[in-house]
Amino acid sequence: MQASGARSYARRMSTTSLATTAVGGPALPQERRLVTSIPGPRSQELLDRKAEAVAAGVGHTAPISAVAAGGGVVVDADGNSLIDLGSGIAVTTVGNAHPKVVEAVQAQVAAFTHTCFMVSPYESYVAVAEALNRLTPGDHAKKSALFNSGAEAVENAVKIARKHTGRSAVVAFDHGYHGRTNLTMALTAKSMPYKSGFGPFAPEVYRAPVSYPYRDGLTGAEAAKRAIQQIEKQIGADNLAAVIIEPIQGEGGFIVPAEGFLPALVDWCRANGVVFIADEVQTGFGRTGAMFASEHFGIVPDLITTAKGIAAGLPLAAVTGRAEIMDASHAGGLGGTYGGNPIACAAALAAIEAFENDGLVERAREIGALITGRFGELQASDRRIGDVRGLGAMVAVEFVDPATGEPDAALTGAVAKAAIAAGVIVLTCGTFGNVIRFLPPLSIGDELLAEGLSVVADALAAA
Ligand SMILES: *Cc1c(COP(=O)(O)O)cnc(C)c1O
Repeated sequence: MQASGARSYARRMSTTSLATTAVGGPALPQERRLVTSIPGPRSQELLDRKAEAVAAGVGHTAPISAVAAGGGVVVDADGNSLIDLGSGIAVTTVGNAHPKVVEAVQAQVAAFTHTCFMVSPYESYVAVAEALNRLTPGDHAKKSALFNSGAEAVENAVKIARKHTGRSAVVAFDHGYHGRTNLTMALTAKSMPYKSGFGPFAPEVYRAPVSYPYRDGLTGAEAAKRAIQQIEKQIGADNLAAVIIEPIQGEGGFIVPAEGFLPALVDWCRANGVVFIADEVQTGFGRTGAMFASEHFGIVPDLITTAKGIAAGLPLAAVTGRAEIMDASHAGGLGGTYGGNPIACAAALAAIEAFENDGLVERAREIGALITGRFGELQASDRRIGDVRGLGAMVAVEFVDPATGEPDAALTGAVAKAAIAAGVIVLTCGTFGNVIRFLPPLSIGDELLAEGLSVVADALAAA
């Protein structure tokens, strides 16, 4: 049924659209296939148009013109099939063009595309809120509100925390990333490329040191003590509305905090009436081998922000948390024209069903074991691999100069570039630009994943 749906879609598209249009989803041949160099001529044509038409500040990682994706591959306009180890930055976790998502979206788009939930409410929004309230850690009463992007969810979490506490200060952490809007730029640690020249930034945002075991050598308790002392001295708990942290830092380098760090922060927040916000925009939705990364650390955040993996590629984000905090805002204080758009909600409900029915959380753990196994082995013989870390299908390799232990961004960039040229999409990250991160779609097969990792290993050997 799905295959014939895809065929009729292909027929429809072939009569109405460019010859480059293809059908995605898991039915795509699951193979790495290079028929031109990267970029091929058709991709290059698009990149030339992009350079003319699109603002220079909007960059790209893989120099291709994507026309289809699914399973574990992205196909370009020249007919190259690249192995996808990035999921469009941890978004297509259930798989690109997942058949159930496609079906749900097509049904919804035919029924109605938008009413604005604040004008005429509809069921799918409420159902997504119910699902989030059920799936997020903790069995206390919870409520949710829906938005369009991770940054918007973070902004709203801060608004809610400020309204609830009547305080204004917010603490974020070294290496933290929370988005590109004004407030979330202020929360984000790294200047280039996220903040440089874009200030002035939102006030009342303070930064505390995080736990980065590979580089600071501190236990979780020591790192938490260091952070809490700084917060108490420099801000004062009475002025603090919220502490916001990614349970595993994403853009900052997939930094997994030492055991005990997050629970100590949560305890301190609770004792001081400070709202603890877990930004699970990247770590949420099965990515780490638990539905939420907070579960790995045994913490129950007051508020959780989600986006990226929540709706299989449609723009949707949420804040979920303790009902008494979520209800702090007066009616009309939260919302937005598109927040919780019905098409995005339909996609989210289908994606959540896939998580619960397809064993994807378990699959994330298997994928993680394959990646850490492979690079753990390599690390034993290649001292340029300083650290291999992560949880579930969120794994990173940190590259260093073996003589000094200093971050090696040049090597990292060269390996990523060579991997992409060889048909494997990988992303870099890290404050020092020396981390390659693996975020494969959970729909990727073992063989394709192994091949993708081999390509990256070969690129490293050749670098
Ligand atoms: C990507 C990301 C954001 C921002 O999400 P957008 O949808 O790009 O606005 C916020 N927080 C974290 C942890 C992220 O990874």
